[in-house]
Amino acid sequence: MVCAGWPYVNSTPHLGTLTQLLSADVYARYLRLKGEEAVLVSGSDEHGAPIEVEALRLGVSPRQLTNRNHQLIKHLLKAFDIQFDNYTRTESRVHKEFVQKTYRKIEQNGYIYSQSVILPYCENHQRFLPDRFVEGECPHCHSQGARGDQCDNCGKILEPTDLIKPYCVLCHQTPILKESKHWFFDLPKLSERLRKYVEKNPNFPENARNFSLSWIKEGLKPRSLTRDISWGIPAPFEGAKGKTLYVWMEAVLGYVSATKEWAENNHKPNLWKKFWLDPESRNIHFVGKDNIPFHTIIFPGLLEASGDKYNLPWQVSSTEWIQFEGQKFSKSRRIGVWIDEAIELAGAEYWRYALISLRPELKDANFTWEEFERKINTELNDVLGNFVHRTISFLQTHFRGRVPDYSARELSDRDTLAVLEQAPKKIEEKFKRFRLKEALEQIIELAREGNRYLNDREPWKTYKTDKALAGQSLGISVQILATVGVTLQPFLPKSASSILKALSEKKPFRWNQAGKCFVKPGTQIRSLKPLFHKVSAQDLRAKLEQLRSSKPLEAEA
Ligand SMILES: [Zn+2]
Ligand SMILES: [Zn+2]
Repeated sequence: MVCAGWPYVNSTPHLGTLTQLLSADVYARYLRLKGEEAVLVSGSDEHGAPIEVEALRLGVSPRQLTNRNHQLIKHLLKAFDIQFDNYTRTESRVHKEFVQKTYRKIEQNGYIYSQSVILPYCENHQRFLPDRFVEGECPHCHSQGARGDQCDNCGKILEPTDLIKPYCVLCHQTPILKESKHWFFDLPKLSERLRKYVEKNPNFPENARNFSLSWIKEGLKPRSLTRDISWGIPAPFEGAKGKTLYVWMEAVLGYVSATKEWAENNHKPNLWKKFWLDPESRNIHFVGKDNIPFHTIIFPGLLEASGDKYNLPWQVSSTEWIQFEGQKFSKSRRIGVWIDEAIELAGAEYWRYALISLRPELKDANFTWEEFERKINTELNDVLGNFVHRTISFLQTHFRGRVPDYSARELSDRDTLAVLEQAPKKIEEKFKRFRLKEALEQIIELAREGNRYLNDREPWKTYKTDKALAGQSLGISVQILATVGVTLQPFLPKSASSILKALSEKKPFRWNQAGKCFVKPGTQIRSLKPLFHKVSAQDLRAKLEQLRSSKPLEAEA
C-alpha cells in the first residue's frame, strides 16, 4: 500500500510537493517490477477554511474552485507520468461515507468528547471566524497579517483567539467573542499505544522517529475535530448539526477511502481489505517533514481508535525541506516553480530525474536552475545519454545492429561483468532503506562504468584490426545497457522503455533480469534517437519569465 501525501488544492502544487508524489510513484513502480501487488493512491485535499476563503474572494463556490483545480492537477500529475491506481478527492462519495462511519465508531469507542469554546465571531457576516477567516497581529513576532491558524512570518501555530487586533478577512471588521460547542479527539488516551507503536517500528527515518517520540513525551493534546464552516464533511456527532469536520482530521483518512474506491471501481469491493487489514501487507507513506505527526501519530491514532485492526504506517518516508534558490517556496512572493509551469519548461523525464536526484533524504536540498542544468547536462545527458547513444550507434554502424558474440574472456571483462552483477543488489539495498536519490545515483554510476569500459576497450580502434575483440566489448556494453534500462524503469519510465524497446521486442522487463546477460548474441538492436538534450539555466529563467508575463499567477489563499 503506497500512499502519497494529498496536495491541498487551493493552488497547483510546487516542486516540493511534486517530489513527494514522484517518490511514491518511483517506489510503487519498483514494487510492481519486483512482482509485488502494489496500490498507489493519493488525491486532492479540498475542504476547509483556506479553500472557502479563496472561493469567496474569487466569487465562486468552493466546489467550483476545487472542481477546476482537481481536474487541472490530475491532468498535470499524469503529464509527469505518475501512475496512480486512484487519484481521487475528499469530495468523493466513498471518502465522505467512510469518514463519517469511522468517526461514529471512534465516538462509540469513547475517544471523542465535546466542549464549549470561545471563538471570534463576525457580526457583519454572522459567522464564526476559524483558521484563515481571521487575521491580526502575531502575539509572538508581532508581524501583521498573521492568520488564525498560523503565523507565516515566525511559523508558530496559533489559535484564532491568540491574535492581537483581530479582524474578519472578508470585511475587516473587528470580531466579537462568542461561545460555540466543538468536538475533540481524545488523543492523550492513546499515548501509551502510540509510544509503543513508534518505538517498535524500526523503519521510520530518524526525523520521523525523533519528532514523534518527543511529541508523545511532551504530552499529546486533544485535537480539535470540528469547525463552524460549511465547506467540509458534516460532523456525524450528536448535536453537531451545521458543523463540519476539521479538514486535517478527515483528509488523512483518504488513504483508506481511496483504496476502497479503487476496489469498488474494479468491481472487487473487498479488495481494499487485502491492503489495509491483512497483516502481510505493508503500509508505506511518502510525505514532507511538516506532515510527520499526521502520519506517525494522528492517522495511526484514528485507525486504532476505530477499533478495526488496520495496518498502521510501516514506513513514513519523510524528507527534509526543499528550498527554491535558497528560500522557502511562496506563491505570493513568487518564489518557486509550480507544476503547471514546470511541465512547460522541461519534459517530465528531466523533472523526474532532477527532483529525485535532489530528494532531501538526509538534509535540506536547494533547487537552483544552475543545479538543474548541471544535473541534466553532466549526468543525464553526458553520462546516461552518452552511454546509450555510443553503444547503440556503434552497433548500428559496425555490426548492422546485431549483438556480437561475447564472453568473459579477458580479466577486465570479468571485472566489468562482476560490477554489472552487483549493480542491482546495490540499487535494491538503497530502495530497502527508502533512499531513492541514492538508488538513482547507483544507476548513473553503472552507466558511468559502461562509459569507462568503452573508453578502456576502445572498440572504435580495435574494430579496424580485430573485429571479434571490438564485438566482445560491444556485446558486454549491451548487457550493461540492458541493466541500466531495467533498473531505470521506476525513475524514468519513458527513457527506460525506449532503451529496452531498442534492445528487445519482449516485454515486460522484470527487476530480476537486472545484472544478468540477457540480450543474446545475434539479437537485432534497433536504432534510437538521442534520449536527452542539454538545457541552459539562463534560457529556463527567461522562459519562465515569459510564461509568467503571459499568464499571471493566481494569488495564494
Ligand atoms: Zn509570528
Ligand atoms: Zn466579516
